[in-house]
Amino acid sequence: MTADAYLIIRCDGDDCPAPEAHWPVRHDPHTHSELRRLLKVHRGWRRTRDGRDLCPSHTEETR
Ligand SMILES: [Zn+2]
Repeated sequence: MTADAYLIIRCDGDDCPAPEAHWPVRHDPHTHSELRRLLKVHRGWRRTRDGRDLCPSHTEETR
């Protein structure tokens, strides 16, 4: 099984339509910080100062 082979980050925004993000196993990030970097660069995710993760649809609201 590969269920635990990749990391997941959850959006902390309200009523998120797609609160979970992960990266394809083929490009396996090994840590959450690496996953955050990939999501930030390629998908527009954002890590807030108080430690919340926000998907692209939520970063606009909380800028
Ligand atoms: Zn969201």
